[in-house]
Amino acid sequence: MIKDIKGLHHITSMASDARQNNRFFTDTLGLRRVKKTVNFDDPNVYHLYFGDENGTPGTVMTYFPFANMMLGRPGVGEVGETQFSVPEGSLSFWKERFAAQGVGDVETDTVFGAERLRFIGPDGDAFALVETPDDKRPAWSSEGVSNDVAIRGFSGARFNLHDTASTAELLGFMGYERSEAEGNVTRYVIPDGNGADTIDLAALPKTPFARQGAGSVHHIAFAVENREKQLEVRKALMDTGYQVTPVIDRDYFWAIYFRTPGGILFEVATNEPGFNRDEDTAHLGEALKLPSRYEEFRSQIEANLVPLAA
Ligand code: ZN
Repeated sequence: MIKDIKGLHHITSMASDARQNNRFFTDTLGLRRVKKTVNFDDPNVYHLYFGDENGTPGTVMTYFPFANMMLGRPGVGEVGETQFSVPEGSLSFWKERFAAQGVGDVETDTVFGAERLRFIGPDGDAFALVETPDDKRPAWSSEGVSNDVAIRGFSGARFNLHDTASTAELLGFMGYERSEAEGNVTRYVIPDGNGADTIDLAALPKTPFARQGAGSVHHIAFAVENREKQLEVRKALMDTGYQVTPVIDRDYFWAIYFRTPGGILFEVATNEPGFNRDEDTAHLGEALKLPSRYEEFRSQIEANLVPLAA
């Protein structure tokens, strides 16, 4: 069994409009944009990273905004809900803020005893704010979102699956422990994690498979401390029969990827080197950063990207 997974590292989704995406995550949700770069495979598409002050693993939501991309169709075989941790008693603030800003499908519910506020992003992305009493992670405070209500990072994610057995087995192998069940949802928790510690598996045997598009999660990344631990995790997964990619340099972390039996693309990413590798912490996310192989095409790439608000 693997013992080096520390919870989530980041979640990467797709969007249809870069400006709208940037505005939603910075202005509405009050996260910090910690990196403005481009897709490694298509430098005419941004890769935007939003998180806490430093882009700490477990807080980082990232997006590929493909202009005018068709909306995804929710279904099984995907991450069905991204969950953010907020302080106890903060949901009334968020409810008012979302109403004022026209955020869609806002509804309260209670899941595994926690008060939550569900809402959708600009492309129908399924999100929830979860009141978490003992989350000690520091928050990024921004205009209109003070420290006592601000998002602390992910609490976790819910996977929508046709059948949960193989994914449950994989999570167990990755060090997650089954904690409790409620209706068709079973919760798995990583011990000694980074705060982004829970994965909920929802069994939806009659739901059709999702079609990926804007508003869909592209992949979900789990955190390991360093490259040495990552190689151990890679070997353990390969020995169990998973087809895992070689280690890929993503500039701010090292990544390996593998497709899970339930259909979701998993990544295991290192906490090193982090987002202040090429920018001062005070100025994270301000300048357009390019992977080195695209640097010589900077002026052309910049001309093709829509300018974003700071
Ligand atoms: Zn990733």
